[in-house]
Amino acid sequence: MPQLGFGVWQVPDDEAETAVATALEAGYRSIDTAAIYGNEEGTGKALAASGIPRADLFVTTKLWNSDQGYDATLRAFDTSLAKLGLEYVDLYLIHWPLPSRGRYVDTYKAFEKLHAEGRVRAIGVSNFLPEHLERLIGETSVVPAVNQIELHPHLQQHAAREYHAQQGIATEAWSPLGQGKGLLEVPAIVAIAQKHGRTPAQVVLRWHLQLGNIVIPKSVTPSRIAENIDVFGFTLDTEDLAAISALNEDRRLGPDPATFDMG
Ligand code: NAD
Repeated sequence: MPQLGFGVWQVPDDEAETAVATALEAGYRSIDTAAIYGNEEGTGKALAASGIPRADLFVTTKLWNSDQGYDATLRAFDTSLAKLGLEYVDLYLIHWPLPSRGRYVDTYKAFEKLHAEGRVRAIGVSNFLPEHLERLIGETSVVPAVNQIELHPHLQQHAAREYHAQQGIATEAWSPLGQGKGLLEVPAIVAIAQKHGRTPAQVVLRWHLQLGNIVIPKSVTPSRIAENIDVFGFTLDTEDLAAISALNEDRRLGPDPATFDMG
């Protein structure tokens, strides 16, 4: 899986086609969508129109909450695959654990079937806390390849990252730029950007990459799409990394996975 990909949350279907096409032209090969984003069709159209060989692309989609459960998962996967216009997806994720509903183990067993059939190359989860992963690992056979969680300098997720490392699960950061809000104006980040002749977004993405996180920044602006993938030509030093690591506030922008129960 490429360590840097392109996310399409909140991008309407018709705009997703253009945005994904722009991203593919800029060199991205990994695309992160989800059934609930409502843009699997637009994403699929851009993938098909690109002419890039399927084997060079890495496509992730996610099972929405209302489709959890063994049979419902299999049906939802067929729908996602048809909308994407693909024969397989590279990574399929359970979008949220919804612990109060108690269905993620059954859901994941359907994922294991899809994996065994080769219609999904790798299976994983999103927004799972270590306690959810522990139960899943105890009751199923395939350790999730990835846990995609909210992760940025204001929410550094030390405990989750450590648990993932112990279990051999890759950590994927959603909202890696903190949704672009205050984070990119934080003086410490602006100063590091000036020092390297880079932008704050590039510095934050570089911080993730050097920590070993997978990142999927989103933008619909062509110049930013290009900027966000141009992060392989410089390196943050230990002082820079320490200054960014000091920004942790354990502050979520999104919901708490322990209680989130929508959809
Ligand atoms: P992000 O951290 O990628 O920030 C995106 C926003 O930052 C943009 O809308 C734009 O306003 C700004 N931005 C982007 N590039 C910039 C640049 N170079 N300079 C200045 N500002 C810039 O936030 P996100 O979209 O929430 O997260 C990225 C992806 O993660 C999503 O598209 C989606 O694929 C995934 N995601 C997953 C979940 C989940 O529950 N699994 C939840 C949220 C997001």
